Amino acid sequence: MNNSTLPQAFQSITCPACGLLCDDIHLARDTTDNLAVTQNGCQKSITFFGRPALSSSAKINGKPASLDEAITRAAQLLSASKQPLFAGLGTDVNGMRSVMRLADKSGAVLDHMNSNGFMRNIQVIQNSGWQVTTLTEVRNRVDLLVIIGSDVVSILPRFFERVVWNKESMFGQDTGKREVVYLGGRDLDTNPGISPDGRKPQVLPCDSAHLPEVVATLRALVSGKKLYATEVAGITISDLQNLAERLAKAQYSVVAWAPPALNFAHAELTVQNITELVKTLNKTTRSSGLPLGGSDGDMSANQVCTWISGYPLRTSYARTYPEHDPYHFSTERLLNSGEADTLLWVSSFNPERTPPATKIPTIVLGHSAMTFEQVPEVFIPIATPGVDYSGIMFRMDNVVSLPVEQLRTNDLPTLSAVMSAIEEACTC
Ligand code: SF4
Repeated sequence: MNNSTLPQAFQSITCPACGLLCDDIHLARDTTDNLAVTQNGCQKSITFFGRPALSSSAKINGKPASLDEAITRAAQLLSASKQPLFAGLGTDVNGMRSVMRLADKSGAVLDHMNSNGFMRNIQVIQNSGWQVTTLTEVRNRVDLLVIIGSDVVSILPRFFERVVWNKESMFGQDTGKREVVYLGGRDLDTNPGISPDGRKPQVLPCDSAHLPEVVATLRALVSGKKLYATEVAGITISDLQNLAERLAKAQYSVVAWAPPALNFAHAELTVQNITELVKTLNKTTRSSGLPLGGSDGDMSANQVCTWISGYPLRTSYARTYPEHDPYHFSTERLLNSGEADTLLWVSSFNPERTPPATKIPTIVLGHSAMTFEQVPEVFIPIATPGVDYSGIMFRMDNVVSLPVEQLRTNDLPTLSAVMSAIEEACTC
């Protein structure tokens, strides 16, 4: 019997299931290596840690194969490929380092499964820069939180518990007096924005498709422009004027948005209106933006890609040197145009994030519980960071990296081990 088959209780464990990386999870491990959250979890973390310890074998065209055979076949596919695409990229820092090495060797394009959302942010950073904050700053300083187009909790379930209605703050602020405003979106779950003493948040609803004009109007009002319209997308100008005045009076406002929720054409311009609005507020008071996201290791993948290649994701090594293009190197475009001829898909956290349907040969390095509608040429089940092995991950605010711990042992290989073996066997 190895140690992993002994029941054990864990405390202060970091949860990698969303970008908050809550580090206060209590867990219990049973004699069959299964885990259960016992304290401080949310439903997302309960599902994540509760997935049973499966020991599935590699497969080639749906038939069981040894790990060596699957690695050899993956290397053959990549060696024969003229334009490989490495996508998904749901992994930790070390996993992404190994992805970068093989991408460099094979001339692959790199894109994350969440890129459609966070490219909206990247384009704004590249174009005009921004002023954003960290979760720690929010936890300790925010007095007015404006959330645009999202309820937050559907992507970051414990956001309010951890950083808004936290009982203690570093500078003696009465956190229960914080004010919350939801702007835009319909059918949002705004209950988590109710303060501990029962104060309801202000909700200014509109269809998400109208957020561009609503946010542009708020920016104009914050800049002191006079408007002759009386309403925009069903929200009265007086309500928006009132919000602009509250932002100007706040000591430390935070304006948050979730890029995946801004799902309309040229949403980067709406993100830019938010970040420019924040810049304007900082002429007279203090304000910061807060982009919300960070699932499936997207922040970790993007950080590693940036510091190794000099560019964020949607970067290609096809010409032997790194080139970045948020449009040309999107997974969707490369698959639809037929430019990519082999897809290598990585998803080690979530078995439900399977590769997009495609006719090109597909190699999947994925969660052991993954099942497929379209059987890939090669499937290699890999270990999950923060459950099956220890690693490092970046939190959603991009400036904090946290260790995630091994909680059980099994025979699943890490992504790094598989990628290194493929790299060695590759003749590309
Ligand atoms: S909020 Fe996110 S990081 Fe925190 S416990 Fe839930 S899934 Fe895990």
